Amino acid sequence: MADTEYSRRTAVTGLSVSPTDATRLRELVEEWKRGCQLAVNEAWGVCHTRSEVQQLTYDLLRERTDLGSQHAVLATHRAAEAIKRAGESGTKPEFTSPTVAFDTRTMTVFDDRTVSLTTTDERVRCDLELPPDGGYQSRFLDDETWEPAKSALHYRDGEFVFHLGFRTPTPGVEPPTEGATVLGVDLGVENLAVTSTARFFPAGELTHRREEFEAVRASLDATGTRSADRTLRQAGYRLDQFVNHRLHEVATGIVSEADRYDCALVAFGELSEVRDLLPDASSYHEWLFSRLLSLVEYRAAERDIAVVEVNPEYTSQRCMECGFTHPQNRDLDAGQFECLKCGASANDDYNAAKNIAFRCVRRGPLSSRGLGAAACALQSGVVTPDDGFTPYAELSEAPRSD
Ligand SMILES: [Zn+2]
Repeated sequence: MADTEYSRRTAVTGLSVSPTDATRLRELVEEWKRGCQLAVNEAWGVCHTRSEVQQLTYDLLRERTDLGSQHAVLATHRAAEAIKRAGESGTKPEFTSPTVAFDTRTMTVFDDRTVSLTTTDERVRCDLELPPDGGYQSRFLDDETWEPAKSALHYRDGEFVFHLGFRTPTPGVEPPTEGATVLGVDLGVENLAVTSTARFFPAGELTHRREEFEAVRASLDATGTRSADRTLRQAGYRLDQFVNHRLHEVATGIVSEADRYDCALVAFGELSEVRDLLPDASSYHEWLFSRLLSLVEYRAAERDIAVVEVNPEYTSQRCMECGFTHPQNRDLDAGQFECLKCGASANDDYNAAKNIAFRCVRRGPLSSRGLGAAACALQSGVVTPDDGFTPYAELSEAPRSD
């Protein structure tokens, strides 16, 4: 079945790994990077579809790396994706990130909260390190309607973190096949969400309250008394309530924005990529994003609006005005996007939201990408690949304005 027929989520969890298994996993990470790079070097400028890259490079990977057969296949696919995306920037991808992809052939998730992973040596089996209360991760682990899917192992600062992917058949709304207008949403640390129509949902209060809670926890942990425990539980409860309330507000805001601009589709960047794209994001942010996405999906379904996740790579580096893609298009400190080529400038997150929306738009009959949306909703008009920007005033059904 096609990807678009599933909702996908990622549960981020630590892994408890014995020293021997840690060595095996580190070895796998190294071989994976090497395998992806070999495949890219071989296929760069030659081909870019998964099947072509696999055909061209699979034997080479089996010969020159210790990757098992299925990991070799996955590495050729990872290489193909990287080549396809790099086409926009013209720079050959370098695999430096310590991340390995897994699928259901290379991993097994067990009911006892363990996972077994294929390595270059023996399979390793390790405990998932979940929060004491099970965390949001348990919701997916315990719910049989969610099945394990494409996942990723990350190795950072001596720790293994597993991004356990889940999928479920899309419940409510099928993405429209053509003609839809799409609202793009960029998720971030500074702004929790920004829409392609320039609606901003700052994260300030959420971050602030969380930091306050952490400070209380740190001071109470030192005392360790029972009343300290109670105080901490109460503070935690109040924080949860506040966070839930705020997430509901933001989800409602996003869906009403989609409604107002007549969008049949709301697009987010894939959450599984967040760690790589937002180095400042903590697992708290990942939890916020995941929860927000579920709430939006729930509310959007009531209005027949579909929610999709698109690949977010380069969405923060690409100029929405001219398409020029470059890491230095951004002034990270100022949160400002400034195109090196055409000089266009915009808020960083707003530019990314527009690019996320644009990922859903079908670009001509040759394009295999795109969900068939026809236009992206912006603040003052829509953008289509053929006609460029059209202000709402010139459209027959202009949305209401404030
Ligand atoms: Zn530009």
